[in-house]
Amino acid sequence: MADLEAFRAEARAWLDKNCPPGARGPGPVSNGSSKTKITDPDTRLWLTRMIERGWTVPTWPREYGGGGLSTEECIVLLEEMKSIGARPALYSIGTRMLGPTLLEFGTEEQKKRHLPRIARAEVEWCQGYSEPGAGSDLASLRTRAVLEGDRYVINGSKIWTSSAHEADWMFVLVRTDPDAPKHDGISLMLLPMNQPGVSIKPIRLISGDSPFSETFFDNAHADVRDLVGDLNKGWAVGKRLLQHERSGMESLLAGGTGNRGLTGLAEIARKYVGVENGKVKDRVARNQIVKNEMDSRALALTQRRVVEESAEGGTPGPATSIFKMIRTDLEKAYFDLATSMRGAQGFGWEGASFTDKELEDLRRLLSSRAASIYSGSNEIQRNIIAKRVLGLPD
Ligand SMILES: Cc1cc2nc3c(=O)[nH]c(=O)nc-3n(C[C@H](O)[C@H](O)[C@H](O)COP(=O)(O)OP(=O)(O)OC[C@H]3O[C@@H](n4cnc5c(N)ncnc54)[C@H](O)[C@@H]3O)c2cc1C
Repeated sequence: MADLEAFRAEARAWLDKNCPPGARGPGPVSNGSSKTKITDPDTRLWLTRMIERGWTVPTWPREYGGGGLSTEECIVLLEEMKSIGARPALYSIGTRMLGPTLLEFGTEEQKKRHLPRIARAEVEWCQGYSEPGAGSDLASLRTRAVLEGDRYVINGSKIWTSSAHEADWMFVLVRTDPDAPKHDGISLMLLPMNQPGVSIKPIRLISGDSPFSETFFDNAHADVRDLVGDLNKGWAVGKRLLQHERSGMESLLAGGTGNRGLTGLAEIARKYVGVENGKVKDRVARNQIVKNEMDSRALALTQRRVVEESAEGGTPGPATSIFKMIRTDLEKAYFDLATSMRGAQGFGWEGASFTDKELEDLRRLLSSRAASIYSGSNEIQRNIIAKRVLGLPD
């Protein structure tokens, strides 16, 4: 305990000295992509310093670019960052999904080749799981990989590939044995996006954005060294990766409600609903605010308890489905409430009569709907919770 308090003092002093003012509060966060560089000077400086310290990935071993912190130390670090409003220096698919999976399943050579580059924000990854005929029923995927010499030749397509246009590499689930039962003929491999056999077609949304793409493989290549785990055993590896994705581990460790950057609901109520005798005027709004805050804190405490209970302090297993589903519902409820409290001011799409925050929150209300679909829909999370957490029969 004394060691932990010494670490807290050390972390606080380091953060005070090294976290520039422009890296505190809302602002840009690197996703590591070599294609979209951070231009804001304070954000860049913060990233450089955190990389040097190994704190872009605090719990990863030092030899792979991490900080070598224990789970408890990491909790302390995140608490101290939160107390000064420091943004994460790096928030990437590599740090959140692939990295932890490689730490568990990767060969030593894979760890040495890929992890330090993720930690140093030199590379961003994308996830090649879903296909037109394989979403919730992911094990029906058909993209084929065939071994030819020292590489796999891949043909097929993926869909809904988030950030494919920014990604340097993809982790992809492919069928390597078409004759085996569907869960047994799948492998997970890594491939560079920048090669002639890979093409992407952005999917344009009604808003005009295209945050995800279709990805096509036409004799694309993955090096045989980049098969993760055993051949045809990729289903277990791919499922574990989803648990890392669903855990929201960094927010989970901090005992907070995530990297949501959400203004307190009470603050919004004060501005738009008004306060009387120290209370939010509208009783219904008041009750909903309290419910959202209490549910968020209950989730944070549950997450923290489950992490502390898990033997090695790592990402929990199927319980991550509970976190993902509740977090998603809370986020939707937050934006519903924030928008309704703002009244007509909550429904501005553009124009000078709306603040940046009002415009941003309406977009976030719309995008929060996607959270109950990606990484497995809420119905699929309920199935997992029923079978794998509660032990109910199939
Ligand atoms: C914003 C966003 C980003 C995404 N990013 C990625 C990405 O980067 N990489 C990637 O590979 N995929 C990505 N996806 C795809 C996502 O994983 C799938 O959309 C999701 O798994 C659902 O699959 P589907 O769209 O094919 O729907 P379907 O599987 O066709 O489901 C349709 C409906 O049926 C329900 N349903 C299906 N099966 C069952 C069942 N057994 N029991 C109960 N209900 C069921 C579902 O809950 C859903 O409501 C993303 C999706 C979104 C929305």
